[in-house]
Amino acid sequence: MAETGLNGKDRQPELLLGVMGDPIAQSKSPLMHGAALKALGLSGAYVPLHITPDKLGDAVQAVRTLGFRGVNVTIPHKVAVMDYLDKLDASAVDVGAVNTIVNDNGVLTGFNTDGIGYVRSLKAEAAPELSGARILVIGAGGAARGIVSALLQERPASILIANRNEDRAHQLADSFRNRGNVAGTGMEAVPSVTGDMDIVINTTSVGMFPHMEEMPIDPACLHKGMIVSDLIYNPLHTRLLTESLQRGCIIHGGLGMFIYQGAYALEYWTGLAAPVDIMRQTIVDCLGGSAGEMISSK
Ligand code: NAP
Repeated sequence: MAETGLNGKDRQPELLLGVMGDPIAQSKSPLMHGAALKALGLSGAYVPLHITPDKLGDAVQAVRTLGFRGVNVTIPHKVAVMDYLDKLDASAVDVGAVNTIVNDNGVLTGFNTDGIGYVRSLKAEAAPELSGARILVIGAGGAARGIVSALLQERPASILIANRNEDRAHQLADSFRNRGNVAGTGMEAVPSVTGDMDIVINTTSVGMFPHMEEMPIDPACLHKGMIVSDLIYNPLHTRLLTESLQRGCIIHGGLGMFIYQGAYALEYWTGLAAPVDIMRQTIVDCLGGSAGEMISSK
């Protein structure tokens, strides 16, 4: 709704956005969304909001009171915040977690853009067609849940989830049983199944800074031409990806997931196409790399 400014001209109200987490100082979202707002010519701000768990309910109420158009939600609030919202989108129900809140005149709706952000990145940067693909997902945590949910919308032939704690792999697979061909297994099965896979996705934190020498699987079991994807984006190229590239695999890093989860959120808040290239370049500049080199080997 237009307001009358000091100069008497009509002006749009400031777009208030932010990210709630604990801790929050390390978040790159304010930088990325600040650049996006500028590129879109929108006046407003995207601010880091340090919210401890005991203040989460008050903070969500403040989104309504202060007239924020929306916020992102990050660790440790993604599950707990669901209790304070008016509505949940199917993406949030599926994943059991919320990373984006949209405020429509005081009515707060929770979305989850992590999984769909990952799939948009995978398709844009490495694997345009996922229908019929045989996919191995390493890890069965929160990120894996979002990704499996979004991957199933693409009708892959199969998804096998391998996890250190095998029970968690089976539980995650069981929760998607009615949506496709999804199974769980332990890590010891990985060497014998990778030969049949088109795509391997690491969703564990193994290989993340500062433990950059570690790998979640032995890359000797990977084969030329397969896609190897890693959710980690610090470092931008994990050791798993570097070794996969040496074996002739197509590699895909985690930066795109971060960019596109934010792009979806911005699109929900503004109704405008997100300036994805500018968002990516802003983060690459911040992390110190070259955008082309950091996207994928494709
Ligand atoms: P989470 O819920 O804590 O799950 C962690 C997963 O990693 C579990 O499957 C766990 O296995 C496994 N794991 C941890 N340490 C391991 C080890 N030493 N050996 C084998 N497996 C190990 O974490 P999450 O939220 O899913 O996040 C996982 C990763 O995704 C993190 O690296 C995070 O940075 C990344 N991520 C990236 C983005 C992005 O935008 N690119 C977004 C979200 C997450 P157990 O079940 O056996 O413990």
